[in-house]
Amino acid sequence: MPENFSPSLQQKIEDRLRYYEDLGIRLFYKDRGANGAALAAVETGVPAPSPSIISKEPILPKPTPRPAPAKVAPAAPPPPILVTPAGPSLFEAVDRITDDTLLKVREDLGDCTRCKLHKGRNKLVFGDGNPKAQLVFVGEGPGADEDMQGLPFVGRAGKLLTQMIEAMGLQRRDVYICNVVKCRPPENRAPEPDEVATCSPYLLRQIDVIHPKVIVCLGAVAAKTLLNTTRGISSFRGEWLDWRGHKLMATYHPAYLLRNPPAKVDVWKDLQKVMAELGLALPKKAKS
Ligand code: URA
Repeated sequence: MPENFSPSLQQKIEDRLRYYEDLGIRLFYKDRGANGAALAAVETGVPAPSPSIISKEPILPKPTPRPAPAKVAPAAPPPPILVTPAGPSLFEAVDRITDDTLLKVREDLGDCTRCKLHKGRNKLVFGDGNPKAQLVFVGEGPGADEDMQGLPFVGRAGKLLTQMIEAMGLQRRDVYICNVVKCRPPENRAPEPDEVATCSPYLLRQIDVIHPKVIVCLGAVAAKTLLNTTRGISSFRGEWLDWRGHKLMATYHPAYLLRNPPAKVDVWKDLQKVMAELGLALPKKAKS
């Protein structure tokens, strides 16, 4: 790697390469061997790009633009939408609030003290991203980094989520990211039922306002909350479910992937289903 690349840029490139390796994406190295294309690109001696340029023009793989509607080949029949695994959702009967907006939801939350989580809070983490996103990711609750910055998924798990989003050919600003609870549970414990019950109506309003085509639940807490089920996430992970007229898929939480990297393969399969649903170009099958 050229010396004029800063250590942080080198680290970023290495992380990205490792991530695509983990996902089994090798197509991009077809003529050069694994990691070769990116390394070759890096070693061309082209003036060192800034990290922001790198993120706009990733070395690996290039996000493929969404195909123009007119040229889209007739799609394969959509995967069947399965019934919600454990009966109607907690929210199925909740009416939409007319003329609701994200601003109103945020204002209604205010300096929230409705549950005990507010006591240890530094910053309330409302959500972030495109208010008109077609894709919403729902996590569990803020961790230490999120609590400091007031933004969802900005710590280690968040960096992995960002890589997942970019692997889909999207940027964070294209999607909306939020959590079941908006304040950090102490010691990063799972949110307790009373905290979920108090906070999740605001999540529901956020999703209703954004009205995405697809909701991806990251981990069991998000999936169990929205689907009102106690079933283990593995039993319905990667399946299309219907949630208040939206397509919903649960997949593993990025923090779980940090502990169990082989599960990235399953998550990548799930995300490719989401890409297909959103009309995003899928990577071609890698040749060995
Ligand atoms: N984990 C989550 O579930 N949400 C965050 O915002 C960060 C980590």
